Amino acid sequence: MAYEALYTRGRPKTLSQLIGQEHISNALTRAISSGRLSHAYLLVGTRGTGKTSTARLLSKAMNCDRVHEAQLAGRPLDKKEIPCNKCESCKSFDSSPDNVEFDAASNRSVEDVTRLLSTAYLAPLRARVKTFIIDEVHMLSFEAVNSILKLIEEPPPNVAFFLATTEINKVPMTIRSRCQVLNFRLIPPSIIAPYLLTLARRLNVGLQEEAAKKIARLAEGSMRDAMTYLDQCYAMADKEITLDDVNETLGLISDENLDEIISAVKAKDRAAVGRAITQAFRSGLSANIIAESLITRLRDIEFDMLDRNEKNFSEPDNFIDALRKATIEMNGSGIPDIILEMTLMKLAAPVQTFTASQPAQISLPNENLDAGQKIFYDTADSLSGEISDVKYIRDKVRVLSFTGDTLNLGFKSAVTANMFKKIQKDFERQAAQNTGRTIKFSYVVDTKLPSPVLNNMSEPARKNLTGAMEAFQASDVVKIND
Ligand SMILES: [Zn+2]
Repeated sequence: MAYEALYTRGRPKTLSQLIGQEHISNALTRAISSGRLSHAYLLVGTRGTGKTSTARLLSKAMNCDRVHEAQLAGRPLDKKEIPCNKCESCKSFDSSPDNVEFDAASNRSVEDVTRLLSTAYLAPLRARVKTFIIDEVHMLSFEAVNSILKLIEEPPPNVAFFLATTEINKVPMTIRSRCQVLNFRLIPPSIIAPYLLTLARRLNVGLQEEAAKKIARLAEGSMRDAMTYLDQCYAMADKEITLDDVNETLGLISDENLDEIISAVKAKDRAAVGRAITQAFRSGLSANIIAESLITRLRDIEFDMLDRNEKNFSEPDNFIDALRKATIEMNGSGIPDIILEMTLMKLAAPVQTFTASQPAQISLPNENLDAGQKIFYDTADSLSGEISDVKYIRDKVRVLSFTGDTLNLGFKSAVTANMFKKIQKDFERQAAQNTGRTIKFSYVVDTKLPSPVLNNMSEPARKNLTGAMEAFQASDVVKIND
């Protein structure tokens, strides 16, 4: 017997086997039980989430003798019996001339599609309901869309349409508004992995839990991709599919190796980075795959940190950013290995420290100052309708720094500072309301502060303007603002 792909063998046979889309299978079970099925469904979702499988199950159920009997008797149906898979109609469904399936993305001619659709006006040959399953419906020609529209607006008796799409935005509103829409969700790894394990047990395929988890993560929400990966690994594995089998078959670098590189970079241990990357190259993987795997691994680590409410994302972000730039550089370059190595080495370089002669103000992280400025100006804007002095103060103040919860402001004149002092409490109340956290304000009076024209400006624009002002000795600007 020819080998049958796991994806085909694992395809749901009843609504109860539709994995990760319980909101859909529940609603459909209720609709079928009460005989309230629509004649046109639009199935929306990423590839491999179960759209076509659901369409087939519904087509089959609409024609199933036992479902029909239950409906007549008014007996509520269980998901497991939709469809029954035992009656004559169910058994002959796969070869039924009354179920028409096609993919609008394939190269069918316009005439071909129109001819297929025109058969909707002919009575079904054997079935109760004639069904049309059209994949990637957004790819249909204008003429075909019009034919479908006509068919669902004034449906011939005993016809049902299942239109599937991965891109709902490209489906004309006229179609969307006339169909019952079923939204398919991405299936999380926490659902895919246990399902793979169950399926493997049912099919007598050895599968390690770690391997199942890795495949589930790689599938990114698509059950079909998960099955395809499992199939590939099954073909290559010995007795049991292990994590190593998955890595090897799918051309992946092991998590241990990735973690070695990541921790070496974080520890700024360039020798260790060199050793880890050499080992990765030795396994025959391309620099591009290694870089992409590092990005995915770092992203996983970030998500874990998010889960644990850990705040410090700055390091992984720089890391991912640098790798992303490296992958772009690597494309079409003759030296991708060297680019990756250099990128990692640069990331592992010791942190530059500022010399003592530099003013302390500059060492403040820009994003902090920018965040502080944003909070201050948002607060001032919220208050300006309420308190008349706010607008004046807003133009005269300079946000100096933002440390912890305290926004430090600078005023060139004591008069303006006094004006602020009177409404400081209002600022603190409004800032707390805007940001959802406690914000304290403190201020200094410093006649040597640079012109406020630079206030509402983020780095590096502020730096550029200061430079330009110095170069042109822009005393006029200072005068205008003071
Ligand atoms: Zn049946």
